Amino acid sequence: MHVFKFGGASVRDAEGIRNIGRIIAQTDGRLMIVVSAMGKTTNALEGLVRALCEYDLSGFDALYDQVVSTGELQSTRIVSAYLNNCGIANEWMDITQIIVTDDQFRQANVDMDMTQRLLKGYLKTHPARIYVTQGFIAGTPDGRRTTLGREGSDYTAALLANLLNAESVTLWKDVPGVMSADPLRDRNAHLLPHLTYDETEQILAQGAQIIHPKTIAPLREKNIPLYVKPFLHPEEQGTVIKN
Ligand code: ASP
Ligand code: MG
Repeated sequence: MHVFKFGGASVRDAEGIRNIGRIIAQTDGRLMIVVSAMGKTTNALEGLVRALCEYDLSGFDALYDQVVSTGELQSTRIVSAYLNNCGIANEWMDITQIIVTDDQFRQANVDMDMTQRLLKGYLKTHPARIYVTQGFIAGTPDGRRTTLGREGSDYTAALLANLLNAESVTLWKDVPGVMSADPLRDRNAHLLPHLTYDETEQILAQGAQIIHPKTIAPLREKNIPLYVKPFLHPEEQGTVIKN
């Protein structure tokens, strides 16, 4: 099984979703596709919760997660339906029924053992080559939705890869890969084609925002390579991160 993660930028509009279809059509083997909310949807939903909570601040974090998680539920419904329509049969998986967390809303902590059991059971009862599911969101054992921290979809992809003993994770991004500096600020920024897990964690600790910092540990544990590739140029090599 390979894990692909598509961020908000890659699903921001219809053309982005068509592009995902092109990438998936060129990919063989079993795939777990993790998708973020479309474009800046999460920010918009956050604004909605803020507006609501000016009047009532009680239960803000729990309410936040119930509302904000709809961004990923919506985007994945669209991606899954589009792929099915193109003849790329896939199973839409509700990750809030699979990834189990505590009720520390907005920064929930994952119960790996319970999640492992649920994931295994789900894959057995829903056999498919391709699954489409949500990044960033999860659920408590009593069925309330939680979130894993902003930009947490990379972490979801790594977590699932760890539990699936996946062959690889690919983060499809709107940049050529991991760069030596922010290309918008530094003209000399160049692509870093190979990195180790340690080098990547150093870069992230220095403030680079290309990958969610919690992404590396679950991959290092199982020695799963992480590819960072440009979604508009899937033929490019991008960056590979491994030992
Ligand atoms: N949609 C969520 C966010 O914007 C998660 C993610 O993009 O990784 O924070
Ligand atoms: Mg996002």
